[in-house]
Amino acid sequence: MPAIRSCRLCQSRKLVPYLDLGFHPPSDRFLTKEELEGPETYYPLKVVLCRECGISQLSYTVPPEILYQQDYPYESPTGGSGGRHYAEFAAAAAKRSRLSGKDLVVDIGSNVGTLLQGFKKAGARVLGIDPAENIAKIARKRGIPTFAEFFSPEVARRARKRYGAAKIIVGTNVFAHVGDHAAFLRGVDALLAPGGTFIFESPHFLYLVNNLEYDTVYSEHLLYLSLRPVVRLVERFGFEVFRVEEYAIHGGSFRVFIGRKGDHMIEKNVAELLKKERRAGIHSLPRLAEFAQRVEEHRRELIALIDGLRAKRKRIAIVSTPAKGMTLLNYCKLGTERIDFATEISSLKAGRFTPGGHIPVIRDPKDRELIKAKIDYALLLAWNFADDIIPKMAGYRRRGGKFIIPIPWPKIE
Ligand SMILES: [Zn+2]
Repeated sequence: MPAIRSCRLCQSRKLVPYLDLGFHPPSDRFLTKEELEGPETYYPLKVVLCRECGISQLSYTVPPEILYQQDYPYESPTGGSGGRHYAEFAAAAAKRSRLSGKDLVVDIGSNVGTLLQGFKKAGARVLGIDPAENIAKIARKRGIPTFAEFFSPEVARRARKRYGAAKIIVGTNVFAHVGDHAAFLRGVDALLAPGGTFIFESPHFLYLVNNLEYDTVYSEHLLYLSLRPVVRLVERFGFEVFRVEEYAIHGGSFRVFIGRKGDHMIEKNVAELLKKERRAGIHSLPRLAEFAQRVEEHRRELIALIDGLRAKRKRIAIVSTPAKGMTLLNYCKLGTERIDFATEISSLKAGRFTPGGHIPVIRDPKDRELIKAKIDYALLLAWNFADDIIPKMAGYRRRGGKFIIPIPWPKIE
């Protein structure tokens, strides 16, 4: 059953719903012109708390073959602060594990291979694993060997046979997408070399709550991770968390270092983050119910702001179309009657239409289209990359163009 009855991590049935964002089409399902004539399937976006282990998760699993299809249009950033972040990630992890030329690094959910490029530069052998064939093709062209498959114990064993055991296994923003964590961790166990490290990075749920980043709730994100539930989960598979780091990327992320029990010294930042989570109340219902109330207020505020501008005959477009932006647009009912068009750097989504709202997407690496259409306000859906995007739009700015930054609270800049 796609609607869950028990917790994905600990199998407890003590699940309590607290945030209901309604029904949405999959956020990466950008439509072609022909597809606009056909039906579009909507799935529930409802978040429940597991009272046993404390994880927040979606109440419904959209089948992966629907979410991750051949033309999955996500390409991880190669430049800007995202690219820098990956380069630093690879350099730091290579140094910490004292990687040499014989060592293997495997990235699960490797996308076009951006993170692995950094490990390759550090001298390691690399292997990517990513289910999207078109994305894997791009990675191979860039010199990153890639299996176009979902990660599983079987794929892990095959990878080990062909490439040997991995000294480091990494996964950025992939752990929250996994449906079967038992299979995932058994796969990690099968592929990881003795003394090796599995490192995953994910947005931290604490910031989602504190900064009202509810737009990061979408069908690909089954779980909203924090340290406490992860510590409990990995213990069941013979692993332990021995180090954590926190980062500002994606609104607030954490990087978790996991090894087999007893292989690494446990650092004190683990206990510190657990304490911070407890104090913030992110595993308990009163704080989460208050958060859900703020989400509703946010929607009213954003709609009122945009309708106020439209009443003054202002023209509004969207800059950037990340997956999370689709949650915001559909939850706040922002479609073609309120928004003229969307621009996007990536050519993969250009010429298509946003899921649900059917806003046309135009490729524009800068601000030419905004200027041409005399746009007054640009709604920045990739608000976490505002510092990268806004400086590239100096021309639009000079002509009086303004930005609407939607999160954490709608503001005009
Ligand atoms: Zn649980």
